[in-house]
Amino acid sequence: EPDVLDKPDAQDLPPAVGKVDLRAVNFQYRDSTPRVLHDVDLHIQAGTTIALVGPTGAGKTTIARLIARLYEVSSGCVCIDDIDVRRVTQTSLRRQTGIVPQDPFLFSGTIEQNIRFGLPHAPDDKVSEAARLSNAHQFIADLPDGYQTKVLEGAANLSVGQRQLICIARAALAEPRILILDEATSSVDTMTEAMIQEALQRLLSGRTAIVIAHRLSTIRNADLICVVDRGRIVQQGTHQELHDQLGLYRTLYDEQFNLDGDGSG
Ligand code: ADP
Repeated sequence: EPDVLDKPDAQDLPPAVGKVDLRAVNFQYRDSTPRVLHDVDLHIQAGTTIALVGPTGAGKTTIARLIARLYEVSSGCVCIDDIDVRRVTQTSLRRQTGIVPQDPFLFSGTIEQNIRFGLPHAPDDKVSEAARLSNAHQFIADLPDGYQTKVLEGAANLSVGQRQLICIARAALAEPRILILDEATSSVDTMTEAMIQEALQRLLSGRTAIVIAHRLSTIRNADLICVVDRGRIVQQGTHQELHDQLGLYRTLYDEQFNLDGDGSG
């Protein structure tokens, strides 16, 4: 549905360092729909992880989509290394921005083809390297057909956790400078959860990462937490800074995490 076109004089985005800035961004999906982002200013240092937290419908996914230029701002701008994303070719932007969606999409084909998605000519050793880094190699190797295992309709032959690991491997193979991650909320068993967390920490390390965060461990490890509420960034800081304030973060935190028995503060 997005309707974004390259400008006639669009240039390739040079290899990115990975600084991301949103400057006075306003956004509405269509002229006829209400504005969903209001005056958003967000500055992300290259190589750091920011966590976007906030209630459902606050605008977190929209912010992530604008950074990947899946949509264009209504006013203001999104810049990568101080270059307005509207001035660069989409191909060059896609090469350097990876997205791991919440409900990762696997198509019917082999596991290997799914990992190679977007990079069909990547050498085999790169594929297995990416799978190892993502903690996916072991379970794939244990399947009777290994990397050639066919993904069935709806990925019914794979568990939710396995699908997530494959999608992490896909992102690891592409080596994007900027990674956008919509953390899955669906629960997986504790061991798979630990494998996913470990794989994500490896994947995020050294990259600029924007995580729509649902897990306390991700939020605690983030360099900066941005609290989004009704289309505005209402708080920014580290976990400790925000926890010490009586604000939305504290409320969300108390509601979501203390109940899990994981919220010692
Ligand atoms: P969050 O990720 O914080 O749950 P979203 O960014 O998905 O929030 O949504 C922000 C607002 O934008 C919501 O009011 C939502 O209904 C609206 N919205 C999201 N996607 C679209 C779309 N494709 N078209 C129109 N409105 C949308």
